[in-house]
Amino acid sequence: MSNDWYSDFVNSGVGRTIAGQVGLPPVPRLRRWEPGQPLLSGPALLGTATADGRVAKVVRSLLTDLGIEVHDDPHAPVGGGSSTSKVAAGIVDATGLSSPADLAEIQGFLTPVMRRIGPSGRILVIGDVPAEATSPAVRAARRALEGLVRSAGKEARYGATVNLVHVAEDTVGADLESTLRFFLSSRSAFVHGQRLDVGTVPGFAGSSQGVDWDKPLAGRTAVVTGAARGIGATVAKTLRRDGATVICVDVPSAGDALARTANDVGGSALQLDITADHAPATLLDHAGRHGGLDVVVHNAGITRDKLLANQDRDRWNSVIDVNLNAQLAINDALMASDVFHRGGRIVTVSSMAGIAGNRGQTAYGASKAGVIGMVDATAPLLVEKDATINAVAPGFIETAMTAAMPVGTREAGRRLSSMTQGGLPVDVAETIAWFAQAASYAVNGQVLRVDGQNYLGA
Ligand code: NAD
Repeated sequence: MSNDWYSDFVNSGVGRTIAGQVGLPPVPRLRRWEPGQPLLSGPALLGTATADGRVAKVVRSLLTDLGIEVHDDPHAPVGGGSSTSKVAAGIVDATGLSSPADLAEIQGFLTPVMRRIGPSGRILVIGDVPAEATSPAVRAARRALEGLVRSAGKEARYGATVNLVHVAEDTVGADLESTLRFFLSSRSAFVHGQRLDVGTVPGFAGSSQGVDWDKPLAGRTAVVTGAARGIGATVAKTLRRDGATVICVDVPSAGDALARTANDVGGSALQLDITADHAPATLLDHAGRHGGLDVVVHNAGITRDKLLANQDRDRWNSVIDVNLNAQLAINDALMASDVFHRGGRIVTVSSMAGIAGNRGQTAYGASKAGVIGMVDATAPLLVEKDATINAVAPGFIETAMTAAMPVGTREAGRRLSSMTQGGLPVDVAETIAWFAQAASYAVNGQVLRVDGQNYLGA
């Protein structure tokens, strides 16, 4: 049983029957990643929009190397079945578009894919970066993909996701591998209707050769702030599962819970208020004694909700200090220190409130939008260290924080999304763990919503 009574009801035997009869919206059970799980649970359909597409080859070799059945014809019989049998993925190489007329080819491929995609299936559209086109017709065609994907996301059912990846001109196949693996696997269970750009911050360097994809963080040391509970505790466990050594940070008053997380992950605990003046130095000193740092996850965050009309300076400042100023100070220290290794990864936690705004959350929304500005400006600064910074923007996630919401707000948060449910902390953690991989070197300056395509906001 989860604490989502509606989902439990419509997924029970009697509930499913009643829901079907009276037309209640279903709540799909999402497939989530477990060690050893194959990348896809069945065959894939792979389409190309034009003869100039440059990524289909990369996708095909990734899938066939993994023993996955791949067909170019969206009507092909699969898995020994028929031309309507379910598929685990539909992928379109939409690079090389020269005008909106080329979009018809994509429609021709995706229409049967939408009918055939199985439960928790993956639809992935891969296109060129619109801003790299100077021709209005080319740019229009590239930009059209976003509207197509976001709309198809609102039509997909049974936990299938639809996402868009933009690939910059200078990227090659290997630069894409960690991103393909994330979006195609069930690690991205709650990432839906979203867009991500790969290779858009120039000068990146790295390699995905020899990666153990079951332990992609092996040999890396990570700090997770706010690790005592909630999303942070799950991030620590997920990074550990993927092979990292984890340093868990939280305030001294959360010391017992922090020690539990650190024990669970076989890592170390550092009691530290990240807003303290000495916090960056203390953090680096601790990490230095543990062999240095490869990954920093800025997860600690607070809400002090008040209508702006009732806001006071202390509350305002405490939110901006924890959620934004502390991260800026720590990042400055990281960039100036060799303790933060070459090829390092900074991952920060924004929020849908920072994108769409939220009533009662002017301070929180400001801090979480500020985090996005910080990511934008920091990304190019990190290139000289072959490092990256990215953000996750969670929507409604099932935590103690959201369990305490008034029932109406809570139900709206869950149901007003394409997935008709809240996400789990592990959904946020999987996205962070992917950004944290060395192999994600071409993903920089990105903000990815983990929100089941929540209807609030962009
Ligand atoms: P939570 O309150 O359960 O956990 C936050 C942790 O941060 C706590 O352990 C807390 O002690 C720690 N912390 C707070 N101030 C600190 C400080 N000064 N120094 C060190 N540690 C400090 O929150 P959560 O729901 O797990 O959220 C984690 C992150 O995700 C936050 O940044 C939050 O804003 C963001 N977020 C959460 C949701 C959601 O639905 N739960 C949605 C969007 C974004």
